[in-house]
Amino acid sequence: MPSPTDETLHQQHGRYPQANSVEDFRRNLAAVQQRIAAACARVGRDPASVRLLPVSKTFDEAHLRLAYAAGCRLLGENKVQEAQRKWEAMADLSDLRWSVIGHLQTNKARQVARFASEFQALDSLRVAQELDRRLHSEGRQLDVFVQVNTSGEASKYGLAPEQVGQFLQALPGFPALRVRGLMTLALFSADVARVRPCFVRLRELRQRLRQDAPAGVGLDELSMGMSGDFEVAIEEGATVVRVGQAIFGARAMPDSYYWPTADARPVGHD
Ligand SMILES: *Cc1c(COP(=O)(O)O)cnc(C)c1O
Repeated sequence: MPSPTDETLHQQHGRYPQANSVEDFRRNLAAVQQRIAAACARVGRDPASVRLLPVSKTFDEAHLRLAYAAGCRLLGENKVQEAQRKWEAMADLSDLRWSVIGHLQTNKARQVARFASEFQALDSLRVAQELDRRLHSEGRQLDVFVQVNTSGEASKYGLAPEQVGQFLQALPGFPALRVRGLMTLALFSADVARVRPCFVRLRELRQRLRQDAPAGVGLDELSMGMSGDFEVAIEEGATVVRVGQAIFGARAMPDSYYWPTADARPVGHD
């Protein structure tokens, strides 16, 4: 398979066909796993060191059940209300777990504390505190990733890289949060030369912060890469890739619904 990462990324979202059967999901999952393995091979990494997180946002319960039947046991959702609705509807699948990967307001922390097993977009102490408080009353713990803004786009969520060190120092104060690592969204561009530096920045930040990370704050994980750019992210050290459209099919929803930076990418742009 030729490397898509040489000059331009295939950000051909509109061209991912909809998955409508268990076979479609099996095929798409296998194709993504193959792309993961090829990216790993290029840089001498073990494919087992990369976790694929299927992202199911905007797709309905019937499609999520097909994904489950094809083997998915952890699904990523960007919005809390949508995730909670799906969690309730699919409570019969007792081994299905949920990862919330989008920005969280403190008034939604209670829901996340109740049903999520992972939260990837931690970027404020207020949210950390509220999650910790709610988790204690639920008798639960939560895996969390600290979201970092590596693209420098003002409207993007996440801490500035220079704020992360100090932020991490405060996290042992919230014992219900199990800090696993860092998460980022790269710049949205089909130009690898502009996307790759975002991933490099997250890896180098992790490297710098590791020595001084407080006890109990783990920085092993780097969650970076989506359908259009996960191979580049893997080449730069991703341990978790969050992949929606390459598994479920193209989304009808514009990306701007999920994050404020996508205004420059109207629907059908790529
Ligand atoms: C939707 C989403 C993804 C996956 O994007 P795809 O283009 O569907 O692969 C990854 N990360 C976050 C935070 C998302 O909201």
